[in-house]
Amino acid sequence: MRKAQKFLCRADKRAFPPAALHRAPCTADMFVDSHCHLDFPEFADRIDEILAAMAANHVSHALCVAVNLENWPGVISLAETHDNLFASVGIHPDHDATAPLTEDDLLQRAQHPKVVAIGETGLDYFRVAGDTEWQRERFRTHIRTARAVCKPLIIHTRAAAADTLRVMREEGADRAGGVMHCFTETLEVARAALDLSFYISFSGIVTFKNAHDLKYVAREVPLERMLIETDSPYLAPVPHRGKTNQPAYVAHVAAEIARLKDVPVQQVAQITTRNFFELFRAAGG
Ligand SMILES: [Zn+2]
Ligand SMILES: [Zn+2]
Repeated sequence: MRKAQKFLCRADKRAFPPAALHRAPCTADMFVDSHCHLDFPEFADRIDEILAAMAANHVSHALCVAVNLENWPGVISLAETHDNLFASVGIHPDHDATAPLTEDDLLQRAQHPKVVAIGETGLDYFRVAGDTEWQRERFRTHIRTARAVCKPLIIHTRAAAADTLRVMREEGADRAGGVMHCFTETLEVARAALDLSFYISFSGIVTFKNAHDLKYVAREVPLERMLIETDSPYLAPVPHRGKTNQPAYVAHVAAEIARLKDVPVQQVAQITTRNFFELFRAAGG
C-alpha cells in the first residue's frame, strides 16, 4: 500500500511537470542555490545586483524559501518577477508558537505554479525553550500538505534530530520526499534521511575551517543525493565568512565539496544542479 501510493505520486509527477520548471537549462556547469531568503531586508532594493552577481558566478537559479505566511507575498512576488527564482511556502520552526496554521493555508498557496516545495519546516530545539509540542504539530501539518500536493519538503533540524526523523517516519514524509537543508548533523542522521529518500543539502558551514565533522559527512554522502545552498543572508562561506551571504557565493560551497570528494568542481555543478531539477520537478504541478 505504502509503495503503491508512492509510485502513483511519482507517476503523476512525471505526467504533469510544473510549468515553472519547463525552462530548466541543460547548461552543464551552472550552480543552483537550493535555499536562500532573498525577501529578507538585507536584500531590499538589491535584487538586480544579486541577480547580476549570480549570472557572473554561473549560478543559474535560486529557490527563495518562505519562513512565515506574513512575508510569503514577498517571496512569491520574487518568483513571479524572475524566471530563474522559485518559491516555497511554509513556516520556520523558530517562528511564533502562536501562529495558526492549517493544511488549507498551505494548500492554497502551494497550488501556485512557482511554488516547488513545502517549507521550511522541521524542528529547532536550540532556539525554542519549553514545550515544543506545537513545533511537532506544525511540522506534521507541513508533511501532510506536502503529501497532499505531491511537492517535496524543505526540512530544518537543529538539536532535534531524533524527533525530526521520528515525525518524518510517523507522517510518511518519504512519500513526499525533500531535502534536509543546511545539514549539520552526524553521518548516522544523514543515512537515516537518505533511507527516507531525502537529499542532503550543504551550506557555507562546510567551508569553515573547524567544521571537521561536517566535512567528513560531506565526503560520505553520495553526490547523487546532495544539494548545495547558501541560506543567505546568513552563513557566508569562506572567503566571505562574516559578511552578508548571497546566492552567487554557492560556488564556494561547491568548490569545497569538490575538494573534499577530490572531483572537478564542474562535476559537483552538474550533479547537484541535476539533483535540484529532479527533486523539484518531481514536485508535480
Ligand atoms: Zn533553516
Ligand atoms: Zn533558511
